[in-house]
Amino acid sequence: MIHITEHKPGLKMTGFISINTSVLKNPFCSINRCDKKKICSVCYGKYMIDRYPRLKAKLDSNYQILSKDLTIPEINEISGIIKNQNKRFIRIHSIGEISGIEMLSNYYEIIEKNPDSIFALWTKRPEIIKQIHYKPDNLKVVYSNPLIDKPSNKIPVYCDSIFNVITYGYAMFKGIIPNCSGKCIDCLKCYKTDNNVIIELIKADQTRIKKGSIKSIEEGIL
Ligand code: SF4
Repeated sequence: MIHITEHKPGLKMTGFISINTSVLKNPFCSINRCDKKKICSVCYGKYMIDRYPRLKAKLDSNYQILSKDLTIPEINEISGIIKNQNKRFIRIHSIGEISGIEMLSNYYEIIEKNPDSIFALWTKRPEIIKQIHYKPDNLKVVYSNPLIDKPSNKIPVYCDSIFNVITYGYAMFKGIIPNCSGKCIDCLKCYKTDNNVIIELIKADQTRIKKGSIKSIEEGIL
């Protein structure tokens, strides 16, 4: 019924599974993709859908299923699928965004039915998180700051961490060394601890460093 993403070896989320939804169906994503100041303008989800067309149907289907008010048998079915994966750490939305309160409360119910796993939900919509006055004990909510090169340390209510994205030029100018290690399984900061102010280098500049067309930030700053 629901599609679970298994992350391939060698990538940031190796060994993890994630639950993802369409960025094309979600009006919040469509509006924000048009704003050049926002990280949504270089949306990773849209890039993946363009590159792997079969992914589109799976994410569309997940979006439709998870956006409606699910019945208890439907919640139980999805929870069982996730339990069968037998994973300790699970990300919600390595692609996608919560569509509204229905999707969020579905996630909360699914998470509570999987108490042996730890979930981390990434969102740019703290106003929806705020509408439910609790969150499951086995969930960390990571507020994803939408603005590029505007790092903030203000963690919204009911969120546990803030995740910022900066460019290479900004990092050099401000002398900032990003603290997102790029390998979640060895880090787990976003899954296990609170009050984190995470800074990640924008993906395009990570690629330029990997290709050797620019120095690493550490080399550039020191
Ligand atoms: S800070 Fe750590 S856990 Fe969070 S996204 Fe980066 S590598 Fe993954």
